[in-house]
Amino acid sequence: MRTQALVETELRGKIVIGWALMRRLAIFLRIIFVPIFVAVTLLGTSAWGQTSSQTSGRKPSPRTSLPDVFLITIDTLRADHVGCYGYEQVETPALDALAADGVRFTQAFTHSPITNTSHITILTGLLPSVHGVTDFGVPLSPQHVTAAELLKKRGYQTAAFIGAVILDSNTLAPGLDRGFDFYDNFPAKTETKQRWGRVERRGMEVVAHAETWFEKHRTGPHFVWVHLYDPHDPYEPPPPFSEKYKDHLYDGEIAYADSAVAHWVAFLKKAGVYDNAIIVVTGDHGEGLGEHGEETHGLFLYDSTLHVPLILKIPAAVHHGAVIDSQVRTTDILPTILSATRVAAPAELNGESLLPLIEQTNTAQAPNRALFGETDYPLRWGWAPLRALRADNTKLIEAPRPELYDLQADPKELKNLYTSDSASSKAQSMQTEMSKWKAKLPPPSSTAKPGETLPDPKDKIGVQNLLHNAMLASDDNRSSDARHFLEKALQLDPSSPTALRQLGELELAAGDFAKAAVHLKRACELRPDDSTAAFELGEALEKSGDWPGARDALESSLKLAPSQMSARLLLGHVYLQLKDAKNAADQFEAALLVDSNNSDGRLGLAEAQIQQSDFAGALPDLEAFTKSDPRNAAALSLLARAYRGLGREQDAKRAAELAAALEKK
Ligand SMILES: [Zn+2]
Repeated sequence: MRTQALVETELRGKIVIGWALMRRLAIFLRIIFVPIFVAVTLLGTSAWGQTSSQTSGRKPSPRTSLPDVFLITIDTLRADHVGCYGYEQVETPALDALAADGVRFTQAFTHSPITNTSHITILTGLLPSVHGVTDFGVPLSPQHVTAAELLKKRGYQTAAFIGAVILDSNTLAPGLDRGFDFYDNFPAKTETKQRWGRVERRGMEVVAHAETWFEKHRTGPHFVWVHLYDPHDPYEPPPPFSEKYKDHLYDGEIAYADSAVAHWVAFLKKAGVYDNAIIVVTGDHGEGLGEHGEETHGLFLYDSTLHVPLILKIPAAVHHGAVIDSQVRTTDILPTILSATRVAAPAELNGESLLPLIEQTNTAQAPNRALFGETDYPLRWGWAPLRALRADNTKLIEAPRPELYDLQADPKELKNLYTSDSASSKAQSMQTEMSKWKAKLPPPSSTAKPGETLPDPKDKIGVQNLLHNAMLASDDNRSSDARHFLEKALQLDPSSPTALRQLGELELAAGDFAKAAVHLKRACELRPDDSTAAFELGEALEKSGDWPGARDALESSLKLAPSQMSARLLLGHVYLQLKDAKNAADQFEAALLVDSNNSDGRLGLAEAQIQQSDFAGALPDLEAFTKSDPRNAAALSLLARAYRGLGREQDAKRAAELAAALEKK
């Protein structure tokens, strides 16, 4: 996943404008997918918050009359694993204290069980299929305005501190940094093989970064988002939590994340900004923990992964300790923040402010808000995406084999009441309601060929658990574990393109090119639109010396994704091996249009020119190259060949001697 994303982002932002030599004119356009959006709901704003500074002990000043806003998202946090939600096997004193100082929503649900998708929903107030970021690496379209952009316009200082590379705006979450004055991305290159600092940051480190930033930016108002990734698997809490929770490490991670929240809250209190602040704490999704066969999250839309905590601390003391049982959604968070800060809501919002619910004296009568849930994550493996509607204590899950649950009688969603022949009136009314939601959304991207039914994720959960374990093992450089999981996944599902591609990548890295080529060839047959698999097949064949095979694989990869620099350079070299200098030169020239100083491209082009006996054409750039990089043996060898071709034997001899001396070293 990471490899693909990095390859895909290699040339992000660059436009290949074409190469226009005499022989061929071609234009490559970097195509950026811009999801179409629809305006769904127009919401008004409440005047709440206008007197917020007066309820605090701080002296109001023109700069601080607006409340600071601190958003804390705790990744992979099930509501029913938090102390103030009634769970007794974990200690979460910081979250419990925030709930006592604020309002706790017992029935809050996320629209998506995927980290990126869910966070973008929180930050834009939009449903996943409206904002369009339904997988990793998909850029957030500039047409969707974010909380940070709106608050920045209102005069807020904005900063974000993330705990995982999957929210890094340079790689896997492009556009998520929009509106933030500071966005704490991961370093582009790191030597460490450990996951810490490379893939993940511990909560205390995230909070330490936030506190350092805050110290340097004391003038408010502030909007600071802190993301604590710790409860996400693998469950590896640091001591003493690793010891205290050794039999239930997921809870240990939650307790550790809570200690990071405690540190942050203590800091805010010491800084004198706590009382007047709005603090929102929520989870991006829950965790399967084996329910319905799902170990982690992403594939299903059961409450195990959709039910999240939501705690809202607002300045008004009158609401402290309130508990609201109405069903609410993560799309309601942004409209609430906008109401409380008196920022005009954009026309395009799918949620509603929670402030009217809080102000209502009899919350028992407050209406439940219907939840539309989505996951396109199964598509990653070629399985059917799911949609769910959770309303009136009932859940309908739209899948190849639909599901209907009575959540009051069956909160664990174990008894599927859906029957296709005599659909109950409940199923019918839920389906009607679901159709209304879907009618408001942009049309789904094509998921299956006409007449084709994708597999039901329910039938594939065993494979997905193995693929997930393989991905974690690869992240940790445990390649033999990864191979073991992938081989098991292939036993369950011999035509899993993901397992085949990942196995191919492992063999490629291990140097078994023939084996890699077998797996990657099959992956390409199963998924002919996978440009990365085709590129990797080209690599494996090139390293096995199968030049015609490598040429075909790389040509098809570039047809799918023309802006891949590495694929283009490799194809140039393959053409050189095939003694097809004309096509080799085309590839190197195309690469040089993207990056005119690319040394591989410059030397490749010179070699192609020499192969065509165009020594005079190759000479000027080779001379310039060796002048600026006099220790490059390959360049000096080519220079010697060019001189020789031009009959300049003395110069050729000198260049060849320099090259030989450097090669010896
Ligand atoms: Zn997450």
